[in-house]
Amino acid sequence: MSGPSSRAAARAAVTTAPPTERVRDATAHQIEQVRATLAEQDLDALFVTNPPNVRYLSHFSSPDDGTVLVLPDAVVLLTDGRYTAQADEESAIPFEIVANADDTVARLTRGLRLGVESDHITVKRFKAIGELRGEEPRTSVGIVSRLRMVKSPAEIDLLREAARLTDVGFQAALAFMRAGVTEIDVALELERAMRAAGADGPSFETIVASGVRGAMPHGTASQKALQDGDLVTLDFGACYRGYHADMTRTVGIGSVGAEERRMYQAVLEAQVAAVAAVAPGRSGSELDSVARDILTGQGLGEYFSHSLGHGTGLHIHEDPRLSQRSTDVLAPGMIVTVEPGVYIPGFTGLRIEDLLLVTRAGHEVLSHSPKELITL
Ligand code: ZN
Ligand code: ZN
Repeated sequence: MSGPSSRAAARAAVTTAPPTERVRDATAHQIEQVRATLAEQDLDALFVTNPPNVRYLSHFSSPDDGTVLVLPDAVVLLTDGRYTAQADEESAIPFEIVANADDTVARLTRGLRLGVESDHITVKRFKAIGELRGEEPRTSVGIVSRLRMVKSPAEIDLLREAARLTDVGFQAALAFMRAGVTEIDVALELERAMRAAGADGPSFETIVASGVRGAMPHGTASQKALQDGDLVTLDFGACYRGYHADMTRTVGIGSVGAEERRMYQAVLEAQVAAVAAVAPGRSGSELDSVARDILTGQGLGEYFSHSLGHGTGLHIHEDPRLSQRSTDVLAPGMIVTVEPGVYIPGFTGLRIEDLLLVTRAGHEVLSHSPKELITL
């Protein structure tokens, strides 16, 4: 990856099609929703810097190197000279090639009440924009990310495909895993299969945690070899056109002990019950309790050391949150994970996770890999 071209400065402010021609229906609706929220919050404009939000409003697939400015009567993607062709091909909104987005933001928002994404922008950038404008921007939180909670039919299709590619990865891992193979090689095989089938890449660093390493909920793949008797937790997902799937399966190698099997059945029971409870109107804390109560009843509650689940989409962890502290309430079109697990330090751990779509009638499970304990 290279830095911004120095030639970008020489060809600043190249705008292509006028806004009305360029804004497609898909993002026009979302931009109108942003403007409605801005009005409620006494803001005129919003500078969007958080990459998943940039991608959501523009469809630009390199959002780490772009920002979106929503104005009262215009919207623009700002990126640099490396992306002229890509922005022209992908952007659903007008774009400008700029050497320094902050200068453009200051110029276009002078005199306007400008909001910034205060859960993302750095203090340094906040102050720089304030100095350029002669007036500090205002803080705002969640204007775009709250819109992202309920997915459009097109987004649901992309997540459905991401979940299918994730199932492909699991099948490849099953065919590959045996005692003696390293966790790293399992991760590579799984990721190779997903990419070969059409994934952009893994949604996040693949977790393969076997035996005693299974007690680390986020134990990324190591050089440890799988051993007879290990439980192996595989937490991974395919990213497809920017949308992130997420699934966990735990499998056994050879002769798995009775205590590990008991733990597995308890987690499976908790997971199945929580999945069954997913429906519009249910709260994140209520669903977390469904799984937590079952594990507590089996004496394992203290080892369920994280929350039940989270939304996914253009980012791997999004709202809504399924946790004890969550006030989020499920609605049709949301995509959530359900992933109880237990982790006993010095012994082992396991987790089972599905990706679900919340529907009017309840839910649809998008992960289709089997959940009964498989031993290899
Ligand atoms: Zn996961
Ligand atoms: Zn997850």
